[in-house]
Amino acid sequence: MRKLLFERTENECNTHYTPALEAEDHILESYIPSPYKRKHKLRIPQLTESEVIRHYIALSILNYHIDKGFYPLGSCTMKYNPKVNETMARLPGLAGLHPLQPESMIQSALEIMYELTHDLAEISGMKGVSLQPAAGAHGELTGLKMIRAYHERLGDAREHILIPDSAHGTNPASVTFTGYKSVEIKSNENGTIDLEDLKRKLNAGTAAIMITNPNTLGLFETQIKEIIQLIHDAGALAYMDGANLNALLGIVRPGDIGFDVLHFNLHKTFSTPHGGGGPGAGPVGVSSKLTDFLPVPLIRKDNGKYAFEYDRPHSIGKISTFYGNFGVMVRAYCYIRLLGSAGLRRVSENAIINANYLRSKLESSFELPYRKKCMHEFVLSGERQREQGVKTLDIAKRLLDLGFHAPTIYFPLIVKEAIMIEPTETESKESLDRFIDAMLQIAEEVASNPDIVKSAPHDTVVGRLDEVKAIKQPNVRFNFDA
Ligand SMILES: *Cc1c(COP(=O)(O)O)cnc(C)c1O
Repeated sequence: MRKLLFERTENECNTHYTPALEAEDHILESYIPSPYKRKHKLRIPQLTESEVIRHYIALSILNYHIDKGFYPLGSCTMKYNPKVNETMARLPGLAGLHPLQPESMIQSALEIMYELTHDLAEISGMKGVSLQPAAGAHGELTGLKMIRAYHERLGDAREHILIPDSAHGTNPASVTFTGYKSVEIKSNENGTIDLEDLKRKLNAGTAAIMITNPNTLGLFETQIKEIIQLIHDAGALAYMDGANLNALLGIVRPGDIGFDVLHFNLHKTFSTPHGGGGPGAGPVGVSSKLTDFLPVPLIRKDNGKYAFEYDRPHSIGKISTFYGNFGVMVRAYCYIRLLGSAGLRRVSENAIINANYLRSKLESSFELPYRKKCMHEFVLSGERQREQGVKTLDIAKRLLDLGFHAPTIYFPLIVKEAIMIEPTETESKESLDRFIDAMLQIAEEVASNPDIVKSAPHDTVVGRLDEVKAIKQPNVRFNFDA
């Protein structure tokens, strides 16, 4: 049984690297008022530095992460994040700022935010950007509140948002949260929006359409201009879920296509590590119809000085404490500046090539329900394997044995036994080839030795868990060493 650090305090540690304090204990203690003095000795682990390092390194390799290997989790863009951006975000002059410092003391932080705002506007073709939302779903909420404010200002509060059946789950959730109803639009046999169904459901009650593009099947909505025209003709607005911008950088600008709102996920596309629930940022960009409604404060530049701008009478108000997650903004700013416009375009071109390479190598061994070139990701179906008695979940578990994180499974909901794969641009051909070999091996095992797949994983730290119980009653003291 691996012990917690607190359970290992019994050893008196005998390795000291620091000299003893010169000040006498009682002199230090005389500064502390007696009510605050500790009555008992502090119970902290007495361990050497090497024991602590070994403890955490041992824990870190129990887990799977992008620094350890390929992580093809669709819709999540689990790409490698350059460490230089981490270093920049940790610079003491940035990491040590306090949000209540006066503007005169935080000019360089405001400059970074101002420049990032304009970089994101340039990348997306949107007219205004707010950096405040702390996650993608928070950006959705912010965008929808602006859509509501827009219609209300015209005296025409509308009641529903159109959402394709391939949408990310956060979309209908944000719609409900904002007080709208969601109305589902069907996908057609190509996996894109069914235009006839859209026309049937679009009416004077439609506040907006909310589209992910490329959609969750990894397909670009080819009829997008026609769709936006229909939406605008009906007096509604067009929202693009831009969480996964990894296929569009430097190639297509949502603002140029006619979208009125777009949220970014800086923690997917722009170099903030994610997956463990850490801080993110979901900036939201808007067309000229909505700039009046952006949350306050925005950042203004007058005569070379930066300042927060609060005087915006139609703003939906503040949507974060202070100004959002600043460290995430620093990473995104450095990432964008290091790559430049040509580099950003290369990111997307390589993300698209990598996804299509995997798709073309896997489509004969697995079902590919929508047989088309994909963007940054694609969706296979495990239906053929299911007919042989092996579930998609089993395939995902078997991949763990072979040294890979599993892809997203059972999403999007419109594909049975879905396996959603997003390789990202940061993987080499060698690592893609290793993944292809693993997937082909599993496809072969389903025919020759299905039991090894159905009972996987065999070589991981823990075997197959009761996943509901693992969430409800997590057992972090599991016997890893056994
Ligand atoms: C990840 C994602 C979201 C939600 O982003 P969070 O930061 O997790 O709130 C929304 N839409 C799509 C398409 C996504 O992939």
